[in-house]
Amino acid sequence: MEKIIVCVKAVPDLRSVKVDPETHTLRRDSADLLLNPHDAPAIELAMRLKERLGVEVVVLTMGPPNASSVLRRVYSLGADRLILLSDRAFAGSDTLATSKVLAKALEKLSPFSLVLMGLKSIDGETAQVPPETAVLLGIPSVTNVRNISVENGVFILERVTDYGIEELEVAPPLVVSVTTKLDYIRPPSLKRLLKEREVEVTIWNAETLRLSQEEVGLRGSPTQVASVFEKTISSKGEIWEGPPEELSERLIELLRQKGFLKS
Ligand SMILES: Cc1cc2nc3c(=O)[nH]c(=O)nc-3n(C[C@H](O)[C@H](O)[C@H](O)COP(=O)(O)OP(=O)(O)OC[C@H]3O[C@@H](n4cnc5c(N)ncnc54)[C@H](O)[C@@H]3O)c2cc1C
Repeated sequence: MEKIIVCVKAVPDLRSVKVDPETHTLRRDSADLLLNPHDAPAIELAMRLKERLGVEVVVLTMGPPNASSVLRRVYSLGADRLILLSDRAFAGSDTLATSKVLAKALEKLSPFSLVLMGLKSIDGETAQVPPETAVLLGIPSVTNVRNISVENGVFILERVTDYGIEELEVAPPLVVSVTTKLDYIRPPSLKRLLKEREVEVTIWNAETLRLSQEEVGLRGSPTQVASVFEKTISSKGEIWEGPPEELSERLIELLRQKGFLKS
């Protein structure tokens, strides 16, 4: 078995994030970043496989320079190598451009047996990146997986569906997105937590990945955000006063007018 690669997303802390009024994208440089909570199950499955197979686990993220703090936290969960894909040219990337950057980095890390990702992010929440990356790499993808084992060099995957659990056998390499709920997720190791600040984070930019400015960022993104607005909820409550019979008559009349009651 070759190495396992986990792709994680550094998501903005919703309490500190701002929207850029011109590009309509999130100002990620101004926000505190957290590990996408849905990526924790992908890290956990990688660690379970590492314990069983003794393979290296590489963790990578595409994000701004401060996303390295999120990678260091994943080190405390057991990662062996940390890679940050960061370049001003990547800013504004939609899911396709993000997947292109990830696919290029994965090609550079080849050979690998398995790429694990979260099911979805808590900010973009499209769940498109894992299958898009697999298509760009020309390898299979399986979504919403809750368990992975290996038999005779082939992965046995348990996939959660609306109707029950599907069992699939897939030969490596492949991309898997992991379900948001697992029976157990390990806490960080204290020994690793104490070392996380010293751990090296390798940084790859557009040049390292041989990506042109046209392929990534806003220019390489077919998705265009037309506008962004803050939703304001204005309460239109009314207070009715009077005897119960009169109020119930009034309520029945209102329900008739709104079409909730016939005749
Ligand atoms: C026009 C436009 C501009 C945008 N600009 C930016 C921007 O400047 N910066 C930005 O971060 N987003 C930007 N976004 C949002 C961006 O499209 C998505 O956040 C990003 O492409 C991932 O999609 P998602 O969040 O829906 O991930 P999903 O597909 O829901 O994520 C599934 C899994 O894919 C993996 N994954 C997703 N993103 C990454 C990543 N960056 N690195 C490693 N693994 C990942 C994780 O394992 C994650 O759990 C922009 C979107 C649009 C439409």
